[in-house]
Amino acid sequence: MRPATAATLACVALMSVSSGQAKVADHGQADRQALDLAKRAIALRSVRGPGNQVPQVAALFKSALVAGGFNDADVTITPVDDTAFLIARWKGQDPKLKPLVISGHMDVVAANPADWERDPFTPVVENGLLYGRGASDMKLDDALAVVALVELKRDGYKPRRDIVLAFSGDEETTMRTTQMLAKELANAEMVLNVDGTGGQLDPEGKPQYFTWSGAEKTYADFELTVTSPGGHSSRPYEPNAINQLAAALVRIGQYKFKPELSELTRAYFTAAARYEIPEIAAAMRTFAADPADSRAIAVLRANPMTVGKIGTTCVATMISGGHALNALPQRATANINCRIFPGHPRAQIMEELRRAAADPSVQFKDITEGSVATDASPIRPDVVDAITRAVHVGYPGVPVFPTMSAGASDSMWFRNEHIPSYGVSPLFIKEGDRFSHGLNERIPVGDVGPSMACMLSLLYDLSK
Ligand SMILES: [Zn+2]
Repeated sequence: MRPATAATLACVALMSVSSGQAKVADHGQADRQALDLAKRAIALRSVRGPGNQVPQVAALFKSALVAGGFNDADVTITPVDDTAFLIARWKGQDPKLKPLVISGHMDVVAANPADWERDPFTPVVENGLLYGRGASDMKLDDALAVVALVELKRDGYKPRRDIVLAFSGDEETTMRTTQMLAKELANAEMVLNVDGTGGQLDPEGKPQYFTWSGAEKTYADFELTVTSPGGHSSRPYEPNAINQLAAALVRIGQYKFKPELSELTRAYFTAAARYEIPEIAAAMRTFAADPADSRAIAVLRANPMTVGKIGTTCVATMISGGHALNALPQRATANINCRIFPGHPRAQIMEELRRAAADPSVQFKDITEGSVATDASPIRPDVVDAITRAVHVGYPGVPVFPTMSAGASDSMWFRNEHIPSYGVSPLFIKEGDRFSHGLNERIPVGDVGPSMACMLSLLYDLSK
């Protein structure tokens, strides 16, 4: 009886998966709707400051959700200063399960039309690419998430756990709305942050690999100050505040933080090595096996693409001092910017810098704004399986592996609330087309179909 029961259960599971995949297979109407919605969102200038159109973007997404079957009362838009955040709730069948949160942001980085080849807020599709501010970061991702939910509803899908769509309105600047969202949704099971581009196309446009992010480095700024009574420059004496600070900066510049390897970066190095030139590839594989190997460390440290992945980095970014050409300096200050490997509080890194500076007259101050230190999210097998399966619906066989992000995203504030958070954007792009935050931002439109399939599969798998 037992094997038969197991087989029956397996069969039922397969049937439900395959009906889910059937929903995933035919979605041409959804693809067109997502592209149209993305264009309409790009046309709204959702940039911080006067005339910020984040509230209009939120209203646009809300109207698509309500037209697609969401109750008006289940989609809320909360204004905050010149921006807003949106929450859409889809009740699951099982109230005991914690919600799945889909996170995104509706704001974009400023864009000066004079510098662009086309107007950044007039979406245009040319040669298979959608151009406009927010094309890749992240209005197409937003639209894909909105329309995927509508599509699942249209198919009569009933999620077991609540699905909550949470769109912030100031991710590119202060992240105040993200902090509010993270607090309000702190009971979530996990967050899928669909920000950015996860897939890599080779120069011919063929999908190469897909990465998802399970951790971010922590941003920090430390201000160093040396003061002195000063005096007339014709009567110099030691110590001189500028010389003292300069010497401390040189010592900090020579200081190297201990190389580190996490479960996540080991997986990254092991999988990413095959796309690198032989010297880097060998160093990645060696480091993944032995993070104390000095030759591998030297190679990875000398490469700007990998130096940030093997540990904390700190670098001098600003300096000022003195008040007159003919006076001894009364004050000299510098900024040290750090990208901290997950697992260390900022205060610990500041102490390490203080020891490296080796001069008690250098005062240290943590002047970091808008950042918190977060640990990596666990590599959950259910998440890994769901992401891999979702990517393979559109791109069978493409390698899928985790990475650690160098910059901060909305995930930081969710991780700060101890919610496992994963950066998973379904979009693929060529290295040469990566223009997020830059000029002539673009995204290939041929990718909308596979991305929709990916989004549908992901939402279905993690909420069923
Ligand atoms: Zn973004």
